[in-house]
Amino acid sequence: MIDFSLEPELIQLRESVWKYAVENIIPIQEKIQLELDAKEEFAWPIWEKFKEFGLLGFPFPEEYGGQGANALATTVAWEALGLAGVDGGMVMSLSAHTILCGVPLMTYGTEEQKRKYLTRLATGEMIGCFALTEPHGGSDSIHLKTTAVKKGDRWILNGSKIFITNAPIGDLFLVLATTDKSLGSAGITAFLVEKNFKGFYVSRKLEKMGNRLSPTGEIVFSDCEVPEENVLGEVNMGFIQVVRTIFGWERSVMLSPSVGSLELVIKGLMAYANQRQAFGKPISYFQAIQKKIVDMKVSLEVARSYLYRVAWHIDRGELPFVEASSFKLFWGDAVVNHIYEAIQILGGYGYMREFKLEKGYRDVRLITIGGGTSEVQRTIIARAILGLSGREIE
Ligand SMILES: Cc1cc2nc3c(=O)[nH]c(=O)nc-3n(C[C@H](O)[C@H](O)[C@H](O)COP(=O)(O)OP(=O)(O)OC[C@H]3O[C@@H](n4cnc5c(N)ncnc54)[C@H](O)[C@@H]3O)c2cc1C
Repeated sequence: MIDFSLEPELIQLRESVWKYAVENIIPIQEKIQLELDAKEEFAWPIWEKFKEFGLLGFPFPEEYGGQGANALATTVAWEALGLAGVDGGMVMSLSAHTILCGVPLMTYGTEEQKRKYLTRLATGEMIGCFALTEPHGGSDSIHLKTTAVKKGDRWILNGSKIFITNAPIGDLFLVLATTDKSLGSAGITAFLVEKNFKGFYVSRKLEKMGNRLSPTGEIVFSDCEVPEENVLGEVNMGFIQVVRTIFGWERSVMLSPSVGSLELVIKGLMAYANQRQAFGKPISYFQAIQKKIVDMKVSLEVARSYLYRVAWHIDRGELPFVEASSFKLFWGDAVVNHIYEAIQILGGYGYMREFKLEKGYRDVRLITIGGGTSEVQRTIIARAILGLSGREIE
């Protein structure tokens, strides 16, 4: 039997997160967002509000200071943040911290690692980052040039990583490095690197098109010394275990704020289209406008169902790798197009900063790139459905 309804607890969760955000985050955001977007600065007051509501450790087990939310509950909560209108960049930083860094740590960490790091991510004492992408290319993520060589009781890391969310403000970096080049994806290990470790540097902060409240940077390892107890998961299993787990969440749960955002945008467009007049009648009477809004609404419903299904697979302990790629591929192209069309519906006002759709477009444009491009998702799906083998693409 299939039941498409959300449990009452999840409906309540969505309402409480939405209410909290509308009452506590949005009033602060209204005052600082456009200025911080222009200056490309992190919104610490909003981060404090995330902390206050327990969002910084939302999916972590309660014994490590988290809320014990599973993937579906996290999806519902994150979607509510989008529906409330919480800044896309701030939610991206929240996701890098909790999902990209925290989820693999809670899944593969030793008891000692979880006590030492997960608890501090949950309280906000540490800010988490995930570092896979390298300057020579992010799509080819199994041919990492960053290396780790064992020396006594330490690993020595050399190399660099680029486009790392939260790097300029980060304290804990989940880093992937090649430990046995001959083994391909089975020769990569995950390490927990603290910002104060010898030989670790944030070399620069990067300027971006969108999500500008979320700081992004490049990091360097120059004979960086990492204690052996900071290997996350098994040696050489960093890609096969850790990264695949991350990709499942990153390509589904992490995109849920944009699903909530589109719902908010549609609400605004409906009101605008019914009120804005052209040629003596509301623009909602024009078929061209109706088509854009109807297409958005249909995409929204399809996306939400698909998204919840991927989260449901994750909560069953499965690795819905192809499903997550399919969702990301569908949603990335759809939402970028819908926000582009939303600007069109507002005409000249859509182009103005104060209406925030231009910011929304700059933010959402990342979805077809970050976490694996649309082209790479299409390749993953093609390989799976056509049964092709060959060089691995993840
Ligand atoms: C704002 C932002 C935040 C990010 N945050 C993080 C983070 O926190 N941690 C992290 O590790 N990474 C992060 N990334 C990196 C992101 O995941 C990569 O940018 C992405 O995977 C693409 O890699 P690339 O930019 O090197 O593009 P490339 O791999 O150089 O690709 C260039 C182009 O070639 C295409 N292409 C490549 N291979 C194929 C193929 N086989 N078939 C068809 N087309 C192909 C791509 O689709 C793309 O169009 C972030 C990126 C951005 C922009």
